[in-house]
Formats: sequence, C-alpha cells, structure tokens
Amino acid sequence: MDSAIERVLLSEEEIGKRVKELAEEIRNDFPNGDLILIGVLKGSVIFVADLMRAMNINVTMDFMAVSSYGTSSETSGVVRILKDLDFDIEGKDVIIAEDIIDTGTTLKYLYEYLKARNPRSLKICCLLDKPARRKVDIEGDYVGFRIPDAFVVGYGLDFAEKYRNLPYIGVLKEDVYKK
Ligand code: 5GP
Ligand code: MG
Ligand code: MG
Repeated sequence: MDSAIERVLLSEEEIGKRVKELAEEIRNDFPNGDLILIGVLKGSVIFVADLMRAMNINVTMDFMAVSSYGTSSETSGVVRILKDLDFDIEGKDVIIAEDIIDTGTTLKYLYEYLKARNPRSLKICCLLDKPARRKVDIEGDYVGFRIPDAFVVGYGLDFAEKYRNLPYIGVLKEDVYKK
C-alpha cells in the first residue's frame, strides 16, 4: 500500500466486480447500444475505460474537461468548460460518467448544459457518491458505491495530480493534504 494512504476503502477486486455490474445494468437498459459515454476529465478516465470494455454493446466515448471557479476545496457553483464534446449529441442516448459526486455542483451544471442539446436520453453514471456533502439536487442513475465523507484517491482520483494510478481507492492520510 502507498505510504500516503491511511486505509483501503475499496479494493481492486471490489471495484472490478462493481464496474462489471454497472456495465450490465447499462446494457440491460440500452440493449441496442449506440450509446455515447461522456467522461469528465481527468478523474473518470480509468472508470470509463473499464466500464466501456465491460459493456459489450456499441458505445462511443467522448470527454469533457471542466474546472470550477472558486477555491480548490469549495466549488462556487459556476463551472467553466475547458474542453467541449467532439460530437453532436442531439437525439442520442448519452451517459455522463463521473468519478465521484460530492457537492453535486459540477454534475448539476454539466447535466443542464448537455440537456440543452436535446439528447434522446441523458443519464448519470458515477463510480462513487458522497451523499453527506450534497449541496444541489442531483443523483446518479447508476452508482457504484456510496462512501462516507472522506477524501479518497486512486482509480483515477487524484490529490494534486498524484495517486490516479493506484488500482484501489483509498483514504488519503490527513497529513498529506494538510501539509
Ligand atoms: P462536486 O462538484 O460534486 O462537489 O465535485 C466533484 C469533483 O470534485 C469530482 O469530480 C472530483 O474531481 C472532486 N472530488 C470530490 N470529492 C473528492 C474526493 O474525495 N477525492 C478526490 N480525489 N476528488 C474529489
Ligand atoms: Mg470528476
Ligand atoms: Mg481532482
């Protein structure tokens, strides 16, 4: 285990099993495929890669990059689009894939932004959900794990761009981010 990690919250095996279950849920809802999976950079990259390979239907991927105004720890509710979609989503079945819903600010903004482009359907798939911190009314349609209010890293999630490559999800030691 990495020395910056206090404890492993979700093991590689648990994550792998759950991602396959999510992929199957999505496949059951969209048996004809033709889905567009939109990952939110960079945290969702590993999740999207595993999810789409487990889906076994026709699926295209696209990515958006966003940044929220405000300090690094508290989001302001206004989201800046740094990279928009490459594809037109009008009339398409679209799923937003996120690493984690925390306050919900980012996803709420993205959801409304993409909804305005008139996709046939728009769903949210998130690997992690921290309901205790929610500030705006938004829920995932497909949720991997509900987790307690702790700062987690690994499987795509970073602290200062580090730890994304950990195969598990762990709670970061307090002295690492309070330094
Ligand atoms: P929200 O807008 O829901 O408050 O924030 C969502 C974004 O904040 C996530 O996509 C993620 O980038 C970041 N975030 C929220 N909680 C955590 C966490 O526990 N660990 C990490 N690494 N990032 C988090
Ligand atoms: Mg994210
Ligand atoms: Mg981050």
